[in-house]
Amino acid sequence: MNGNRIVRWITRIVIAIVVGSVGLSGGVGAPASASQVVNVDVEPQLASSITYELDDQYIDLDAQNDRRQVWHDRGIRFKGSWQPEEMALALDILDAFGEVVGDDERLVAILEAAVRAKSFGFKRHLTLERKSSWGLPAAVWYGLPGKIVLNDSLFDAQFVYDNYYWSFLEGAYVTLDREVSMQEAIIAHEIGHVFIDGLHAEARSEGDRDLSLEALYDAVVPPEQLPHTGYVTNENLATELGVWALGIGRTTEVDALRTRLVVRFDTGVAAVP
Ligand SMILES: [Zn+2]
Repeated sequence: MNGNRIVRWITRIVIAIVVGSVGLSGGVGAPASASQVVNVDVEPQLASSITYELDDQYIDLDAQNDRRQVWHDRGIRFKGSWQPEEMALALDILDAFGEVVGDDERLVAILEAAVRAKSFGFKRHLTLERKSSWGLPAAVWYGLPGKIVLNDSLFDAQFVYDNYYWSFLEGAYVTLDREVSMQEAIIAHEIGHVFIDGLHAEARSEGDRDLSLEALYDAVVPPEQLPHTGYVTNENLATELGVWALGIGRTTEVDALRTRLVVRFDTGVAAVP
């Protein structure tokens, strides 16, 4: 399950921090060392690029309800008890994915393809469910019921700070022009999973059993640029899609990947380059 993978990830990342073998980007606030110098031409990173608290923002609840209704009408379901800032985050990320795909209806069609496939046809709509559960994983995509669950622990800044650290977000292979919250990165990652599953499901339904987004990823993105070194490609690709939606700059190789993937979004899997 994806949830187990997340836990393994976190374990590895925590171990990496503890033993000081911090890979590309170093620990939070750690100075760059010679071993961290990499051969890419990037702008200096913001000193503090990852946040763990959600923005304390004014939210017009009527406007937010309208936004949620629009996504509901397209086919996305929301369940559970949400704080306005949490809902704002989820809606912003859906909007962002819609922009990457270029068409909100097309985005929902891809997500629904995943839900149909993973639920063996029993479900259609992707549900984002806010649950009052605690612990790890703080967020997870469950294919069988067709839902992404966001637990209380995801929105506890201290919990997320203690348990999630995606080092690559502070490394040389990303360009952040704003602060990115760990919560939005995690939610975007989970939607990335659904997105990948949807593209695979579409390919299968068109008789293309050889669609390998993961193989494309491995072919285009060098190992040292992976967001989650040592993890299966599917996990890296899920984050790749998520950070793309969030507007996070990556590398020329990832840009090339994005260009190739957009063709799949636009035209369907039959016209894969
Ligand atoms: Zn994952």
